[in-house]
Amino acid sequence: MFETTKALVLREVKYKEADRILTLFTADNGKITAKARGALRKGSRTAAATQQLCWSDMTLFFNKGKWTVNEASVIEAFDGLKTNIASFALGSYIAECVEALSVEDQKDAELLSLALNSLYALSRGLHDPRKIKAAFELRLMSLSGYRPSVEHCSACGAEQPHDPVFDLVDGRLFCRKCCRRGSAVSLDEKALAAMRFVLSAPPRQVFSFDLAGDALVTLGFAAENYLLTQTERSFGTLDYYKQFKTESLG
Ligand SMILES: [Zn+2]
Repeated sequence: MFETTKALVLREVKYKEADRILTLFTADNGKITAKARGALRKGSRTAAATQQLCWSDMTLFFNKGKWTVNEASVIEAFDGLKTNIASFALGSYIAECVEALSVEDQKDAELLSLALNSLYALSRGLHDPRKIKAAFELRLMSLSGYRPSVEHCSACGAEQPHDPVFDLVDGRLFCRKCCRRGSAVSLDEKALAAMRFVLSAPPRQVFSFDLAGDALVTLGFAAENYLLTQTERSFGTLDYYKQFKTESLG
């Protein structure tokens, strides 16, 4: 059975002489594993479109529970990621997060569009990468059933908590004086406003907030550690990305 779909290549692993085993996030079937035979052979027509972080049109063949890539052509290669190793590392982290939090064979248009918008913004340098990373992490958690509850202090109900903190274990907001938990991290007022914006913005506007300096670092720390706490795992691509961390690339 042949099927035509659009797919984002989350991961590619070399297999045998010239094949690739791909983890794809497809528009029609969600996350699947597919083999691209001969993709690494010289002159292969599927080589470019089966590279990691490529968004491609694909014709897939399904037989006996297994997917094979029959044809593939590039829609968007996110070339901007290939010229900057830190951006590529962050793009790979985005892909690893999508792989970790998506469900096999389950279509998820919102998650796909979050991943594509994030890669696009990163590739084109539309926003500070630290903003893209934090917004992606928060939206991803929200889409995956871990939406933080940050409308008011979970203890006293204050909408604008004085000296707000965010609990990484149950994703709730507190005033520092109301919080009895060791698992809470600081969230200054600007970082809190940005977090609220990201969680409620329309999909195409999730990166359209102003945040810089310490407040951006604070938001980034809370978003990353919330994801790590909730998923209870580490991400090799995140450790890799952190090797390239500089002033401008957090
Ligand atoms: Zn309170």
